[in-house]
Amino acid sequence: MIFKERTESLELKLLRSLDVRADLIETDMQRFHNLAKGYEGEVMFDLLTETLKCDNFLLNDLFLDLNGNKFQIDTLMITQDLLYLFEVKNFEGDFYYENGIFHSLASKKEIKNPLLQLERCQSLLRQLFQSLGVRVTIEGFVIFINPRFHLYQSPLNKPIIYPNQLPDFMKKLNRKSSTLTGRHKGLAEQLVSMHRIESPYEKYTRYTIDKVKKGFICGVCGSFHISFCGRHLQCEVCGHLEGLDVAVLRMVEEIRLLYPNEKITTNLVYEWCEVIDSKKTIRRVLKQNMNCTGKTKGLIFE
Ligand SMILES: [Zn+2]
Repeated sequence: MIFKERTESLELKLLRSLDVRADLIETDMQRFHNLAKGYEGEVMFDLLTETLKCDNFLLNDLFLDLNGNKFQIDTLMITQDLLYLFEVKNFEGDFYYENGIFHSLASKKEIKNPLLQLERCQSLLRQLFQSLGVRVTIEGFVIFINPRFHLYQSPLNKPIIYPNQLPDFMKKLNRKSSTLTGRHKGLAEQLVSMHRIESPYEKYTRYTIDKVKKGFICGVCGSFHISFCGRHLQCEVCGHLEGLDVAVLRMVEEIRLLYPNEKITTNLVYEWCEVIDSKKTIRRVLKQNMNCTGKTKGLIFE
């Protein structure tokens, strides 16, 4: 059963929004694609683990810190006597393995070795348990989830599960007999309490509020072509209709996501929303839906 849900990381949400509103520099664009692709793969793996019938606790996406050594776990599965650590990779295309190094076949470039990533993660997790005085056996696997992934010269005797091996692998896990107790639950709770959320903002300070494109974005298709009619906003591309209040509050959420330190004022939201021609309307929506502090001229909404 799922003990900790997976959600999109703050960094991925931030980049998704910035990608629409700003011209991402090459490295940020690459980072955005990698995060999105990785997340997609992890969600694909979740669909498999969620169906497992053996007694388990699934902790999806943990970000931990052991004395300054930060490490991320894609999926951790607690069973009666074993802890499974899964490093999920959504690589697509042809790759080859030579002298312990993974390369992309198309570019011949070396890629980050997932086996080393798994090893590091496993070692840090073991140390973490040691520091907690918990004795567990950890078994780690690299899961290549994408059916269009192929590795030439794949190494033998490495903890790798390829896409075509996944069905049998899941079956094998399912056959395990496992009964969880309060001790396992305590361990799961402890791990969740140690989960950190890392602030991504320092990396993206170049995209200041005066530089990003303002305006409503359609919540369905992402288009900027929105027209205001009565108490609704309509997307001119996909036709999606959204209530005015809901749309304004969605924009407030986006401003908060992009610029958490920015004070939410009527003026700021008014400028951001562009198509709404009355500040009064904006003030009404904010007043009705948010708490405010300050004087009439300088209301700040929270
Ligand atoms: Zn649309």
